[in-house]
Amino acid sequence: MLDIYKYIDEISKRNYSRVVIEFSEGVYSRAIEFYRSLKERIRDIDIILNDNPRYGSCDIDINFYLQLNPDIIIHIGHNPYPYYSRVINKLGLRVHYIPYYIKIDDEGLKWIKDVVSVNDKLKIGLAASIQYLPSLYKVYRQLNRNSTSLIKLPGLPHGQIIGCLSRALYRYTRNLDKIYFIGGGKFHALGLALYSGKPTFLLDIHRKNILSLETEVRKFKSLVMWNIYRAMDSKVFGVIAGKSGLQNMVGRVNTIKNLLDRHGKKYVTLYLDRFDENILDRHRDLDAFIAGSCPRIAIDDITRVKKPILNLEQLLILFGYKKFEEVYPNG
Ligand code: SF4
Repeated sequence: MLDIYKYIDEISKRNYSRVVIEFSEGVYSRAIEFYRSLKERIRDIDIILNDNPRYGSCDIDINFYLQLNPDIIIHIGHNPYPYYSRVINKLGLRVHYIPYYIKIDDEGLKWIKDVVSVNDKLKIGLAASIQYLPSLYKVYRQLNRNSTSLIKLPGLPHGQIIGCLSRALYRYTRNLDKIYFIGGGKFHALGLALYSGKPTFLLDIHRKNILSLETEVRKFKSLVMWNIYRAMDSKVFGVIAGKSGLQNMVGRVNTIKNLLDRHGKKYVTLYLDRFDENILDRHRDLDAFIAGSCPRIAIDDITRVKKPILNLEQLLILFGYKKFEEVYPNG
């Protein structure tokens, strides 16, 4: 559900000479359709398509845009990353986010409402990815407010979950008995389950299926633990940094480097456009990797790299600053 045409008027009214459009992965298959519509309707503006899908609202191609110097970047798919708009503005860039919403029909909404109402006596938390947020609100309006609440994370609309923001999750879900997530795949639901420690269920609206994340959580916790163990004797680390910059703030690449310095570990910073295990696997002189860009690489992509790969929170466990259960609570 994306009415890009309503933005065309808005763009044509402004005095823009160059506009960039970029797309999230979920909506990318329609990139050419939107690009051509814009081109046909707004002929006097230079419209540039960034042909790399963006993984998240954090994933803004800053260096490319600083070279291009567009009047505006139109990001289609996500809403802004919490608190980072000012960082982008400071660089002289302007990003206009147009979220992509997926409509759930009445039958689907009723199914969700029925699933959640069965557990009326428990304290239920509801969440969704940005694409399903309007539908989540529709369901929520019909539910018993004494037992159901929308999970609210700092800087995000009520009910919205993104793949990171792990540190906040435990605090904002600790009074809940159970969590239901509405969304397309396991990615966000897994993050919710791992970092809240609560029984978490993915409501797969397309298959009308309720999927418990329990097995996935067990699997990923074991993999993370194994990776931390394997990294213990590592002497030289490869710190993965994104070339676009904003993700390095999310992954806290500078904090990672300071920690490694403090513990006398050698490291090389590896600037990558995109995470690529084929590149990382070629580094025979590195013992382990630390993801200083998207922290989820060290969870979801953990088995793609031959050597151990950690993120900041896992490095803190390795160096003894945090207990495993503090990062990945048991509920
Ligand atoms: S850092 Fe990773 S998980 Fe967080 S918003 Fe960006 S892509 Fe998603």
